Amino acid sequence: MKIIDLLSEKKLSLSFEVFPPKTEMGFDSVKDATEEIAKLRPSFMSVTYGAGGGTSRYTLDIAKNIKARYNVPTLAHLTCVSSTKETVRNMIENIKAAGIQNIMALRGDIPEDKLSEDRSRWDYTHAIDLIRELREADGNFCIAGACYPEIHPESENQKDDIAHLKEKVDAGCDFLTTQMFFDNNLLYNFLYKIREAGITVPIVPGIMPITNANQVERAMKLSGSFMPQRFKSLVDKFGESPAAMKQAGIAYATDQIIDLYANGITNVHVYSMNKPDIAGKIQSNLSDILGK
Ligand code: FAD
Repeated sequence: MKIIDLLSEKKLSLSFEVFPPKTEMGFDSVKDATEEIAKLRPSFMSVTYGAGGGTSRYTLDIAKNIKARYNVPTLAHLTCVSSTKETVRNMIENIKAAGIQNIMALRGDIPEDKLSEDRSRWDYTHAIDLIRELREADGNFCIAGACYPEIHPESENQKDDIAHLKEKVDAGCDFLTTQMFFDNNLLYNFLYKIREAGITVPIVPGIMPITNANQVERAMKLSGSFMPQRFKSLVDKFGESPAAMKQAGIAYATDQIIDLYANGITNVHVYSMNKPDIAGKIQSNLSDILGK
């Protein structure tokens, strides 16, 4: 099942992101957690990919398992910047052999030790290189790309970032998933600007439930997202009480999703971080809206 075919639904649907284990030892617990999330019958599940390729095998193993056992469509992430053409081609062949049709094509973060290298010698410098390669390898893939409502941290300004995004979409992206954001107005402004720039593919907003105070700093560092005062107050009030913080973080994410749906967005991707209880609670908070 191609995910693009699910995105024209008029009713709210949730999808969930999970990540693969780093080592064989962690495989069973990640497999169990992702299966619990699959039992919630999300519209699809995405499985991330280690930028250095370390977890590449497990990305496919987890995605294959979810699809085979629960018939949930899966989106396998694939990064290119630290890889050779040979590695990426092998990975594409493995994805095809696993019967996975949906790929999130990413550049990946540039590792610290490569930042000073001459990039003209790299096999891949941007996600667009991978998207072109995927399109050539198999016209039948459903290809997703990443986008950044608050601009990608390496971009100097939003105009350039959106111009690069337009090129990326034109190279063959079927839809885009956003980086996390905590103020929906940032997404609405972004949508206005990208539509004006001629980007017409579906946008799936990514919502990260922040359920403990330690996550806040890490999430901000990774994404560069703006933290609204409303959210900061919540962390100040509940940050030291794990159960209350979890409840408040889930309520905040739920509220964001309701507002997105009220404003015409029907597909929301939840960064569920391999936490079935959090994915399940968000889903049950929305049960009447989802009809589940
Ligand atoms: P690109 O689209 O290549 O953009 C990167 C930067 O280069 C931007 O500033 C852009 O404006 C600029 N740019 C793009 N094209 C050009 C061009 N032709 N010329 C000049 N500049 C250009 N990382 C992982 O390691 N594994 C994952 O599984 C993963 N999943 C993710 C899922 C989502 C939804 C998101 C939003 C991010 C994810 N990331 C993941 C993080 C991602 O790899 C990083 O944000 C990375 O820094 C950029 O990847 P990209 O595909 O967006 O890059």
